[in-house]
Amino acid sequence: MTTEAPDVPLLRIGSTVPLTKAEGPGKRFAVWAQGCTIRCAGCFNPHLWGARGGRLISAEDLCAQVVESASKNEIEGITLLGGEPFEQAPAFAVLAEAVQQAGLSVMAFTGYELDDLRGPDAPEGAGALLAATDLLVDGPYRADSPDLLRPWVGSTNQEFRFLTDRYRHLEPTLQASPDRVEVRVSQHGEVTINGWATVGQLDALLDGVTSPVGRGDVR
Ligand code: SF4
Repeated sequence: MTTEAPDVPLLRIGSTVPLTKAEGPGKRFAVWAQGCTIRCAGCFNPHLWGARGGRLISAEDLCAQVVESASKNEIEGITLLGGEPFEQAPAFAVLAEAVQQAGLSVMAFTGYELDDLRGPDAPEGAGALLAATDLLVDGPYRADSPDLLRPWVGSTNQEFRFLTDRYRHLEPTLQASPDRVEVRVSQHGEVTINGWATVGQLDALLDGVTSPVGRGDVR
């Protein structure tokens, strides 16, 4: 049941993970947006491209889940991943603002360039979502330029943008932060993976897993 006012759009999300250490600094609540028109070649999440999949939830209800996880799991913030959060920027801005008001941080990944998000052709609401984002990783995924040095990013063209001071202290030591991959197996035997690893590393990891349902929410 949703409780958002009618003029605030609902979020269409592919999935959430209430506690992850693989999608940004510290412990975080991860939200994968459903729907992306950028469609990078080699994207790990083509199941999140369609704008009709996933499920709808209000920013208010999702924020309540985030706050609950903060209480239980001591998360320090949320990470928005794709799909493309900035193609639902008005609703994600409401979520991000509420999360920041609760004292938590906001990290977001986008396939757009920051200049485009600040330009005249930016998606609706992009400015509001940028204003409520502490750490942004921007740029499309380039499969021919995998980034094996910096954590969390997929390819070398993608940039960390410290939009507030919250994570600026991480900038000099980013390359010392390891990438992580998390594997979850549901009680029904469904295997999902999030985090970042090369295709070869994932193949080695999944070797022996019978009929995997996909590589889940890996960037
Ligand atoms: S990598 Fe991100 S921006 Fe690129 S197609 Fe996949 S979900 Fe969209």
